[in-house]
Amino acid sequence: EIPVLTIDGPSGSGKGTISRLVAQRLGWHYLDSGALYRAVGVAAGWGDLDLADPAALVRCTFDTEIGFREDDSGELRVLVNGTDATDELRTETAGAAASAIAAIPEVREALKDRQRAFRQPPGLVADGRDMGTVIFPGAAYKVFLTASADERAQRRYKQLNDKGVSVTLPGLLREILARDARDAQRAVAPLRPAEDAVRIDTTGLGIEAVVERVLALVHE
Ligand code: C5P
Repeated sequence: EIPVLTIDGPSGSGKGTISRLVAQRLGWHYLDSGALYRAVGVAAGWGDLDLADPAALVRCTFDTEIGFREDDSGELRVLVNGTDATDELRTETAGAAASAIAAIPEVREALKDRQRAFRQPPGLVADGRDMGTVIFPGAAYKVFLTASADERAQRRYKQLNDKGVSVTLPGLLREILARDARDAQRAVAPLRPAEDAVRIDTTGLGIEAVVERVLALVHE
């Protein structure tokens, strides 16, 4: 049984940072499932597809090749149809496209096997919205991270600013709330904690404190 640790939560809850660090510390593989939806969103943009045309988006999901590799500094780069799209993937435009695409059941279905293929020895840390509920319901360890909307917007703001992306805090807060509402209200795989997930509110907590709490679950 290859162990899986699922880390779900809304955008800006700290999922990405915490999941990567925990995976590093455990020496386990890391799945950034949001990157798959974002990659399809970016590919749809490149193809000038209509986000209101589900059939075209489902085709695009099947046709899009998504690759992950680490660069020399150990940073995860995402290749979309062979092109490094890491920076474009991080924008809120890509996030919003991902969220629209992620509401299409056939798209989610088409990405299931690609996500489950990341489960390799010695273990997997899976980061997303439905890792503990849909993709790895039998996972040995499940975490659901939350944080106040203000804090989540501030974290994303800092992240994007550090990358040189120009955004405003109020605009970002609005976009994040809209995206969360859509993710929580969609009919298929809505964002919600698995019943057996341990919930951690990361508001006001430092990264290391959260990492320690998550690692304690695996080591206990
Ligand atoms: O986590 P991230 O912000 O990269 O995810 C982008 C979007 O992809 C989310 O807003 C959500 O709509 C979708 N997503 C999803 N299921 C996942 C991961 C992401 O629906 N497991």
